[in-house]
Amino acid sequence: MISKQAGGRLRGDVCERDPIWDREVETESYEQALARGEAAWEKQFRHLLDDSPFYAGKFREAGVGSAHVRLRDSARLPFTTKEEQKQAIDERPPFGTNLCVSEDRVKRVYQTRGTTGAPSVLALTHADMEMWTAIGTRSYFATGIHDHSSVLTTFGAGPFVAGHTHFVLSRIGSRSVPVAPGDTERVIFGLKAGLADTLLCTPSFAQYLSNRDDGGLSVAHIVTGGEPGGGIPAVRDHIQEELGATVTEVMGIGDIAPSLFGECPHQQGMHFCGSGHVWVELIDPDTREPMEIETGAVGELVYTALTREAMPVVRFVGGDIARIEGTTCECGRTSFRQRVLGRRDDMFIVRGVNVYPTAILAVVGDFRPRVTGRARVIRKGGETSIEPPIPVEVEVTEKHESDPELVVQIENAIHSRLMFRSKVELVVESDFGEAGYKTRLTVRK
Ligand SMILES: [Zn+2]
Repeated sequence: MISKQAGGRLRGDVCERDPIWDREVETESYEQALARGEAAWEKQFRHLLDDSPFYAGKFREAGVGSAHVRLRDSARLPFTTKEEQKQAIDERPPFGTNLCVSEDRVKRVYQTRGTTGAPSVLALTHADMEMWTAIGTRSYFATGIHDHSSVLTTFGAGPFVAGHTHFVLSRIGSRSVPVAPGDTERVIFGLKAGLADTLLCTPSFAQYLSNRDDGGLSVAHIVTGGEPGGGIPAVRDHIQEELGATVTEVMGIGDIAPSLFGECPHQQGMHFCGSGHVWVELIDPDTREPMEIETGAVGELVYTALTREAMPVVRFVGGDIARIEGTTCECGRTSFRQRVLGRRDDMFIVRGVNVYPTAILAVVGDFRPRVTGRARVIRKGGETSIEPPIPVEVEVTEKHESDPELVVQIENAIHSRLMFRSKVELVVESDFGEAGYKTRLTVRK
């Protein structure tokens, strides 16, 4: 176990700086956060009615009049899905019927991953970019990155929104060492040469590096993002032990803000860092009934933009299933902490029990060094309820391409810990078919 320092600071950080970037906002009570949110939402609601043909129409259909609906009554407002946003763009390309400002005010455009086929477009005004930077700065600062940090970042400038991190690092005042995603050679050179003490990357990539490290890499802090993994003990502990670094994670949602949650050095889940700009709700993924954000609750995260100018969303169903880890923290922040269990789309049901592929990673990780730590579930059709044995592919090193004993051991471990039978197939790294950068947890064949 890597020791961590009290007071929300990374081990060895002796700087004088307040470890909370925006103390007033980040330590406010729930009532203060709600009041801050309501004030912003009053303007935003008007903006939507006046300037968004998309939301004016949706509100009409849902029977929401032009009278203000308070945030605390948000259950009266309709949800928004990714598919609807895609349709809104198709109806009036390139920005869609939810563009709420004139096109000349759009100053940055990201092409995010589309769920199918063509990429989806995200438009930002200057103020939207500033808002993203403000939230991102709280999130990354929360992880322990300060102005004295030297940060090697593998998040490219675009086309994906993680590129916005470059503005954030510049705001914090840290040294930035940008490297293209997946450029392992420059990451290794940069860390060996001492250009950086902090690494931003996906957990898949951090795991890939730790499997290859010969002891020459020097990195004190790794911030993972882009996919779950940095919060799974079997993944995190391995990276921490191999590289001697403290691992914390960040998370964002393209349509809301690229870094909206940041985990502090106490490593107890990611703090919500968007107060005043984003309102978060927790809902039951099946019934979409609102749930209380309280310790232990598991539900789907839903977001409402409070200050977004160009493409605001209301009750956007993000697709991430999270567990609320707490609503206070030793670091002093009062926003809730969460860990993502998985994507709603990745979830499957075995004999009435919900399973996320991240749970399989937690089991498989125990079989290192025979396995690399990566695994995925193979799904044949679109049905959610599947009959065991569940097909699982586990990535192994070349030496273990054929290892019937390992297969049996993993199948037994999955059975005893997750209570379902699986059919494990070992796949060597060269055949796993995905770069070390990102791992899909479900593959449909
Ligand atoms: Zn904390």
